[in-house]
Amino acid sequence: MTHEQSRDLYDRALSVLPGGVNSAVRAAIEPYPPFVERGDGGHVIDADGNRYVDWVMGLGPLLYGHDTPQPVESAIQSHASEGPMYGMPTEIEVEHAEFVARHVPSVEMLRFVNSGTEATVSACRLARAHTGRDKIVVMQGGYHGAQETTLVEGEYDDTRPSSPGIPQSFADETLAIPFNDEEAAHNVFEDYGDEIAGVLVEPILANYGIVRPVDGYHETLRDLTDEHGSLLIFDEVITGFRVGGLQCAQGKFGIEPDLTTFGKLIGGGFPVGAIGGPARLMEQFTPSGEVFQAGTFSGHPVTMAAGLESLRYAAEHDVHDHIHDLGERLRTGLAEIVEEQAPSYTVTGSDGMFKLVFSRDAPDSFEDHCEGACEQRESCPRFEHCPKTGADVAAGETDRWRRVFWPKMKDEGVFLSQNQFESQFVTYAHTDEDVEDTLEAYKETL
Ligand code: PLP
Repeated sequence: MTHEQSRDLYDRALSVLPGGVNSAVRAAIEPYPPFVERGDGGHVIDADGNRYVDWVMGLGPLLYGHDTPQPVESAIQSHASEGPMYGMPTEIEVEHAEFVARHVPSVEMLRFVNSGTEATVSACRLARAHTGRDKIVVMQGGYHGAQETTLVEGEYDDTRPSSPGIPQSFADETLAIPFNDEEAAHNVFEDYGDEIAGVLVEPILANYGIVRPVDGYHETLRDLTDEHGSLLIFDEVITGFRVGGLQCAQGKFGIEPDLTTFGKLIGGGFPVGAIGGPARLMEQFTPSGEVFQAGTFSGHPVTMAAGLESLRYAAEHDVHDHIHDLGERLRTGLAEIVEEQAPSYTVTGSDGMFKLVFSRDAPDSFEDHCEGACEQRESCPRFEHCPKTGADVAAGETDRWRRVFWPKMKDEGVFLSQNQFESQFVTYAHTDEDVEDTLEAYKETL
């Protein structure tokens, strides 16, 4: 396998793009990232002509891999050739919002934006305006995009910006608690209840090795926010239309948040974000209300066509079943390999997401390990050992994963997400053969 073209492209990129990339995680691979030339179903081909099974899948927005179904393709082409955008309203935005409102339990109205980051920024602004309070509670290890309120490190009320350039005054309004820790949730409301505008939480921590909620956790957050007049904001940028199918993670877990942020799959592979919720809250956005919200590209017709037709196609075909099925096979197959070859490591995931976390806290025995890893957690003797907080994942051997494991998997013809924390995504384009090849590669590499 040669990588000369990628190396040369990276050299060129370093002169005109800071760090050689347009999003930091893409450069996590050393000494240089492979440059992609094109996709083909569940695979990508790099600039040197090497072919890989692709589990990065754009980091989440691709339900069909690199093989767009014909009706989706036609809708994209026709909207691209007809404008492509106007700065005036179009029917396709209304149709897309109607579709989402029909399927997602808590959503009556939507505001489309252009990224997941924009969505979480606007959701925090709305929560603050609605409650007249400033504090936002987030989970340690959660990710909500490149925005001032949520880029924090530290714990509880001792938080500071995790990037230079963000004033400490933003972090002063952000309270960070461990995911899945009910006591911490009660404490934060006891201490700051009447100052908390909202709790912003991924229903599954999907940017941190995939951490699922323990039973009752989201119910506790729902009760506490109700009790204190704060908003519960589900960040479904990753889980939306992936976990729990078209009802999203909130449908799967049976929780109705006050606001939901979307991104990725809602735009069918084009730049997108959205905020959804009941009319009583959503109508507080301008122009029906006073909370300022605007964007030149928001509701872009090509994005709307791609997103709507992708989701419509999924509603009419066995897309989510296929994805869930392959996800389950990957997790089960990986659990068997890990049991045999690397018993301290942990397989995590849900629906069409999977990850192998290089955890150090191994169970003594896998003898009774139930099929499907965390999917059957109530009866799984290993559940005690699965990561439950961001810190559990961070304690893993992340450096080894990056320096040894990722490059070797790539040499075996498999692309995994670029760091230990990002989820990997199954799509409709993936096949049984891709799963078999990938499991073989894991076996070889471990
Ligand atoms: N929220 C979550 C849960 C995400 O995973 C991401 C991105 O991965 C974002 C928000 C930010 O989305 P974007 O990168 O589109 O700004």
